[in-house]
Amino acid sequence: MPFNQIIGHQRPIKWLRTAVETSHLGHAYLFHGEPAIGKRHTAMALTQFLLCDHPQGGSTPDACGTCRACHQVEQGIHPDYLMIQPEDGQKQNPKIKIDQIRAIEHLVIYRPLIGSHKVCLIDDADTMTPEAANALLKTLEDPPEHCLFLLITSRPEHLLPTIHSRCIALRFAPLPINHIDEFLKQQATMDSRDARLVSTFSEGRLGQALHLDPEELKVKLRQYWALLFGEHLTSTTQVFDMSETLVKSNQVAEAIYWFQQGLRDVLLLSLDESNSPMFYRDQEPTLRQLAQRISPSAIIELSQELNHLERGQQRHLNMQIGLEQFFFHLHDQLDSVLALE
Ligand SMILES: [Zn+2]
Repeated sequence: MPFNQIIGHQRPIKWLRTAVETSHLGHAYLFHGEPAIGKRHTAMALTQFLLCDHPQGGSTPDACGTCRACHQVEQGIHPDYLMIQPEDGQKQNPKIKIDQIRAIEHLVIYRPLIGSHKVCLIDDADTMTPEAANALLKTLEDPPEHCLFLLITSRPEHLLPTIHSRCIALRFAPLPINHIDEFLKQQATMDSRDARLVSTFSEGRLGQALHLDPEELKVKLRQYWALLFGEHLTSTTQVFDMSETLVKSNQVAEAIYWFQQGLRDVLLLSLDESNSPMFYRDQEPTLRQLAQRISPSAIIELSQELNHLERGQQRHLNMQIGLEQFFFHLHDQLDSVLALE
């Protein structure tokens, strides 16, 4: 996928393109930013641009995307290109091991076979074992002239500082929601209601958006809306039962996430930010009534209570009591509003 097919990230792409054009490309780059926002696609586009047989000129030079070299990069079989990622990607704690880094040493030792560069892409670079990281560090300390290292991570703080300092860091920001919305409608041919829903939940991450199922989102929206603002709030017994069910079914983290989005929608409306994308858009009339009754400061307090609960999960806070308290406080605020439903 050449640069011109990447959604967003114009700033890092411009930087890289200019670096290549003016022969200022460094030996090692660190692409960092949220997961699934396009870092790896950009790294592959840069690789194609460097190795392409028929690069396109003009004001925005780019790889052709169709020649043999471009295809080989796409398929991961170009002789001057190596991509490394955690081997046991499906497991809980994936690692890049030292044997994989040794493969880099074999790649970089000789001059490029076809093109002008040898490119080594290391995805999830933060998962390198200490041995692997130290082996890579040795190569980065004295990189061969023709080599380019592209390290990708969403957790730059987990990399060795010594590796960090040898790379030029480029930050990749989440995409504007409307870019994702447009992409889903035009490229993924999603209908506009679903595209709006999915893009709202995407957190500005295109990779995430492509994995979300609008039907699943709708089910969750209905389920958690009923839990957050349902009639059960008026019954102490039902609040106890519901809190217990959420804890026993291991749904606390998920519930906190969906409750936060509901509170956020109310807050945005009470601050008159109705142009921002809303998670529970189908409930807009009720959200508006809630926004008129609950003060922004009360919503923020409730949201902070959820934050506290979320952090408490690691500290073994009693989640059931925490949830019960949250629902009671919410009920206090809603007392006069519940009749609206
Ligand atoms: Zn090409």
